[in-house]
Amino acid sequence: MPSALDNIKVVLVGTTHTGNIGSVARAMKTMGLTQLTLVAPKTAPDGQAYALAAGASEILAAATTFDTLAEAVADCTLVVGSSARSRTLSWPMLDPRQCAKLAINQSDKPVAIVFGRESSGLSNEELQLCNYHVCIAANPEYSSLNLAMAVQVVCYELRMAYLDTAPATTEVDEVSYPSSEQMENFYQHLDTALQHTGFIIKQHPGVVMTKLKRLFNRARPEEAEYNILRGILTSMQRLVKIDNTTYKE
Ligand code: SAH
Repeated sequence: MPSALDNIKVVLVGTTHTGNIGSVARAMKTMGLTQLTLVAPKTAPDGQAYALAAGASEILAAATTFDTLAEAVADCTLVVGSSARSRTLSWPMLDPRQCAKLAINQSDKPVAIVFGRESSGLSNEELQLCNYHVCIAANPEYSSLNLAMAVQVVCYELRMAYLDTAPATTEVDEVSYPSSEQMENFYQHLDTALQHTGFIIKQHPGVVMTKLKRLFNRARPEEAEYNILRGILTSMQRLVKIDNTTYKE
């Protein structure tokens, strides 16, 4: 069954290294994307491209090629161009997460995410064919990712956004947690047990219980773990009683 990801195409403009085209195919397949479009690649996918595509050769084989970006994105209602730097100041910018959400939301119609040349990126004219630009936040001193790695980051976000919208499976969280009332009972028990051991002195309770509550609330014990904790407290109290008895005698 085709998924939203099948309606989002990765468009590579003027790619120089065929190895990068292969690596892009691999990056796409790992994230579940299938549609690769090439615009005037310097060399058509060759042995090097197939070698780097590894198990994603079918994506390379099915890639469509166009002479211009305008032709490649003609059928798309949403086009996002990726760029390491913002050359056209006033263009609406997205980060990869926003881009992915938008693309998945609008994937009932073809969507294109466009990537530029290794040497010079996308031209201003190409960037102006896009509705939005996406920029991967990177080291400002060195922000240009390898082409396939930029594709990987964007495709990962597309996959995350896609999974967010996938219908909930019938799998339910099998784990059950104690109720807040049970946790209150546990804290009472803990307080009493720690008084029995002498760790908490009733007249000077201090903040230790508050800190322990914070610790256990943060840990959020599961029901089974909660039962273990209650069992530990009971065993401590039993021991203390034996000790007391021994001591008294
Ligand atoms: N030297 C080129 C960058 C080439 S990297 C330049 O200065 O524009 C090849 C392509 O990878 C870019 O055109 C862009 O599509 C993508 N890319 C690389 N780094 C990116 C980043 N930080 N954010 C968004 N896209 C990026």
